[in-house]
Amino acid sequence: MIGAASGSAYEPTDDQRAIGDVARDVALREIAPHIVQWDREHAFPRQLYGKLTEAGLMGMLVPEQYGGVGADYVSYALAIEELARVDAGTAVTVSVHSMICNAIATLGSLEQKALWLERLAAGDVIAGFGLTESDAGSDAAGIRATARRDGDAWVLNGRKQWCTNGGYSGVVMAMFRTGGAGSKGISAFLVDSSLPGIVVEKTTEKLGIHTSNTVDLAFDDVRVPHAAMLGAEGTGLTQALMTLTSGRIGIAAQAAGILAACLDASVQFAKERVAFGKPIGAFEGVSFKIARMATDLDAARLLVYRAAALADAGRPFVAEASKAKLFASTKAREHASEAIQIHGGYGYTTEFPVERYYRDAKITEIYEGTSEIQQLVIARGLLGRLD
Ligand SMILES: Cc1cc2nc3c(=O)[nH]c(=O)nc-3n(C[C@H](O)[C@H](O)[C@H](O)COP(=O)(O)OP(=O)(O)OC[C@H]3O[C@@H](n4cnc5c(N)ncnc54)[C@H](O)[C@@H]3O)c2cc1C
Repeated sequence: MIGAASGSAYEPTDDQRAIGDVARDVALREIAPHIVQWDREHAFPRQLYGKLTEAGLMGMLVPEQYGGVGADYVSYALAIEELARVDAGTAVTVSVHSMICNAIATLGSLEQKALWLERLAAGDVIAGFGLTESDAGSDAAGIRATARRDGDAWVLNGRKQWCTNGGYSGVVMAMFRTGGAGSKGISAFLVDSSLPGIVVEKTTEKLGIHTSNTVDLAFDDVRVPHAAMLGAEGTGLTQALMTLTSGRIGIAAQAAGILAACLDASVQFAKERVAFGKPIGAFEGVSFKIARMATDLDAARLLVYRAAALADAGRPFVAEASKAKLFASTKAREHASEAIQIHGGYGYTTEFPVERYYRDAKITEIYEGTSEIQQLVIARGLLGRLD
């Protein structure tokens, strides 16, 4: 629960803040000195995840009995925000990994928990998520990849597009069609990525989040045991959407972190850059941009903490997670542009980090449900299904 220490409804407790502080320390020490180079080289810093594991950040959502931290969502959101404040690519790697840890911890069988959770918390295995296909993104019920029953095994075939962490993952939570058309014909599997028949077909080059690995995965006659099915047959889309709903807290926190980075850089620059004999922060045209940035950052954080606190309390948080993601991502994109404007010509160069924040911010409006899909979720909660 949040608020116990401070008495304020949406103020994280000291314990929750402590996990955010750990993330901030490790990000400043292990990521900040390298991020310009990693971003330029589109590097996936695999060795970094050992450092994040030592800090407990790869096992945040793994229960303690499996070697994890057993953190609550508020703490987790604070940690993702702090990682994103230094590097949004690292933040999404940890966020997607954690989302699968949580799916296994909450939806998995005892056998699946024993097989994966310790290794995920230990950072030996990174997790990926495979739902999207070339012709099925927002319309996830349209996936075509198939799983065919063969005795006590399933045989997987198809292509999964833009799988975050896919080139480095040891396990992928992937959805395949086991029955007929539509959402009821889909089942979820925890697929061991080292199995024969799984190939990384393409690593996608992107506008931003260059330290995040995004690949297309091909599954050609991949045999998995029936025990790899997550939940009951035919419930895969529901499991995927539940996983994405909690994942949206992580992406909203990622967007809040980018926004915080924009504010940090803008405040510093506005104090130091002199024009017409004054620091540019003395001009209202600049200082008011910063005031709006700070206000929207607070609002984004409050929406993230509220969604996370509801999830921690076991209460419904579907609309709240969508609102947090919609608002935080929109504001991250808008203020990243303003941060460049405040920096003038310097902001457009790679000598300052704000051009990276601008490139990184855009994706938060797209993955784990576009902003249009978030609005659909929010509106349906109010209006019901009218179509
Ligand atoms: C870098 C990156 C990483 C990703 N990582 C993963 C991952 O790890 N796993 C995974 O499974 N997927 C991943 N994705 C896929 C991502 O979730 C999808 O791109 C996203 O859900 C949108 O789907 P789409 O690209 O097919 O767009 P489409 O669904 O084709 O949408 C195109 C446009 O139409 C709009 N639209 C669609 N339907 C509606 C509607 N009903 N109402 C209003 N507007 C609508 C959309 O909002 C969008 O603006 C990733 C994508 C990227 C770019």
